[in-house]
Amino acid sequence: MNVLYPLAKRYIAGEDLPTALRSIKFLNQSGYLSSIDVLGENTTNPLQAESAMGEYIQILKQAEAFPFPLDLSLKVTQMGLDIDRDLCKKNIEEILNSANQHTVRLDMEGSDYTQRTLDLCIELHKTHKRLGQAVQAYLHRTQQDMEELIHQGISVRLCKGAYKEPPERALQSMDDVQENFKRLSFTLLKEGFIPAIATHDEYLIQEILNFAKREKIDARSFYFEMLYGVARDLQKLLLDKGFQVRIYVPYGKSWLPYTLRRLAERKENILFVLGNLFKETFGLRKLH
Ligand SMILES: Cc1cc2nc3c(=O)[nH]c(=O)nc-3n(C[C@H](O)[C@H](O)[C@H](O)COP(=O)(O)OP(=O)(O)OC[C@H]3O[C@@H](n4cnc5c(N)ncnc54)[C@H](O)[C@@H]3O)c2cc1C
Repeated sequence: MNVLYPLAKRYIAGEDLPTALRSIKFLNQSGYLSSIDVLGENTTNPLQAESAMGEYIQILKQAEAFPFPLDLSLKVTQMGLDIDRDLCKKNIEEILNSANQHTVRLDMEGSDYTQRTLDLCIELHKTHKRLGQAVQAYLHRTQQDMEELIHQGISVRLCKGAYKEPPERALQSMDDVQENFKRLSFTLLKEGFIPAIATHDEYLIQEILNFAKREKIDARSFYFEMLYGVARDLQKLLLDKGFQVRIYVPYGKSWLPYTLRRLAERKENILFVLGNLFKETFGLRKLH
């Protein structure tokens, strides 16, 4: 599968921490914030989970001298949920205990993990207020979940959702997902606690810009979040308009599942990736 590494390189900031830190510092110098993801999921033994936890602690040690805050994104299955819930909780807690001025956020994985992820987040948030949660607009349950997170004062990142889900759990048409994302994002912008809107969808971004203007929502009260290596032209346009833009920066050796999700992003394929690169390179997109 190493044949995919040239494509993976577009989406990941390297295979080790020093390389990733160079990208993060460069992003920060260019005006962006970062959310760091140590690649890895579905760990099958406690040592693997502890090693992933240790990598996040290393990031926090390196970040002690940083003048800017980081957001750490982690996956409950990377922290050992498939092995033992207590182990997973302990690993996340270790990271939270070292987080200082930085924030930590649980990514949302496949729907078999949704309830357990939310339960862990709500439980840990009672003692660690810097913990946030990602939710997926394609799931039927998300409106209710999001309302509960808002009620608990938990910072929410809204994304569309990247896993294959059955119709009884998730919307299947991209138009429906887009419409639900729009509705949820408006609620989040009005009622959420330091929310993050994670999309590269130009239509949605334009709708959100219009909504924020109409409702006089302060540009500094929320974040736009985008993936490293995706829609860099949009990232820059939003930054130039005065919005806070946080880039999700994945790094590490376990890059394959993440890269496959990026390449498979719905109907998109490698040709689509190339087409997108073409648009970015020649500056063919605009926001009004
Ligand atoms: C910060 C952040 C965190 C995320 N966290 C999670 C999470 O916790 N759980 C989860 O399930 N999903 C997560 N995702 C992924 C998300 O669910 C979507 O799969 C992904 O963002 C694509 O959706 P979109 O909103 O950009 O819309 P799309 O309709 O998929 O894409 C809109 C446009 O963005 C560009 N684009 C999108 N993807 C690619 C790509 N791979 N390569 C090149 N161009 C592309 C294209 O121009 C495309 O037309 C996250 C996404 C972001 C940005």
